[in-house]
Amino acid sequence: MSRLHNFSAGPAALPEAVLRQAQEELLDWHGQGASVMELSHRGKAFIDIAAEAERDLRALLAVPDDYAVVFMQGGATLIQALLPLNFAAPGQAVDYLLTGHWGEKAVEQAQPYCDVRIAASAKGSGYSEIPALSQWRLSDDAAYLHITDNETIHGVEFADTPVLDNVALIADMSSSILSRRIDVSRYAMIYAGAQKNIGPSGIAVAIIHPQLLARAGQARAPILNIGAHLKHDSMLNTPPTFAWYLAGLVFKHLKQRGGVAAIEAINRRKAQRLYSVIDDSAGFYRNRVVPACRSRMNVPFFLANDVLETDFLKQAASNGLIGLKGHRVVGGIRASLYNAVTEASVEALAQFMIDFAQRKA
Ligand SMILES: *Cc1c(COP(=O)(O)O)cnc(C)c1O
Repeated sequence: MSRLHNFSAGPAALPEAVLRQAQEELLDWHGQGASVMELSHRGKAFIDIAAEAERDLRALLAVPDDYAVVFMQGGATLIQALLPLNFAAPGQAVDYLLTGHWGEKAVEQAQPYCDVRIAASAKGSGYSEIPALSQWRLSDDAAYLHITDNETIHGVEFADTPVLDNVALIADMSSSILSRRIDVSRYAMIYAGAQKNIGPSGIAVAIIHPQLLARAGQARAPILNIGAHLKHDSMLNTPPTFAWYLAGLVFKHLKQRGGVAAIEAINRRKAQRLYSVIDDSAGFYRNRVVPACRSRMNVPFFLANDVLETDFLKQAASNGLIGLKGHRVVGGIRASLYNAVTEASVEALAQFMIDFAQRKA
């Protein structure tokens, strides 16, 4: 059995060392005589696993002590619906910046509960850029501003945190969390589904400033109340224990690799390698994103002759390169370069692309 070079956008590649460890301790977790999946979430063993995962995540991102960390089911999408319910009054204005597909989805989830305003949108350019800060129209009375740090489908990423005064900035970091260093204190909230850079699907994390948590929000059931989840240490009901455990293993693995600063340098090299192959292909491959806004995690590209795309994907697969089909919204090819994708995998893809272009150009 051999593992292939996996560029899947999500659920995505996990570190092989983590999968091996999980395999090793699958039947009997640390002498408990049962799998971690079979332990009560109320027992000491699992409570320790959960607490350690949170500690490691806090350490990796240097989360300030006063910020809350919550682990939840429902993915990034549920959190998108919880934002207005928890942090805005009924019908209150909320600002959203649209830089791709996931920003649109966040708007859909918020719309039933508040007055969604589009601060700026790059839709007109086919989501190939981030509108200049000077063009954002922010509402004085908005409860928060929502941005998508990295647009997984369109391949558009903020190079840096936008500099804003007196704005509660909420960032969807589903596909970029832990890929580069960030200053958490610049955000009111960061959230992410796990299945890109954290672990398997089934769990999501949110990192929240206490002032945001103090908001009254709107009438909602306890299960939709983020504060209630926190009060119960993210165990208001049965949490996705196996996903939480695996996320914890990924955090440990990341710490062993030197933390976020070390992985950031590797991620930068991976992205540079792939974009240089695209840019040096004399137009055979094209990426449509303005260079300053190019994603380091998701690299969508097109073949000038799109008839060749099926052939590209087929030959890539027979060379052990999988997960490269572009999202149906934009088509083309997409290579996702999350933390668990090695430089060797990226080099294998780069070599295949150069070779394919030489044969077909
Ligand atoms: C994948 C993704 C989502 C959706 O995540 P789910 O966990 O499936 O709800 C939201 N935002 C971004 C940026 C994503 O990449």
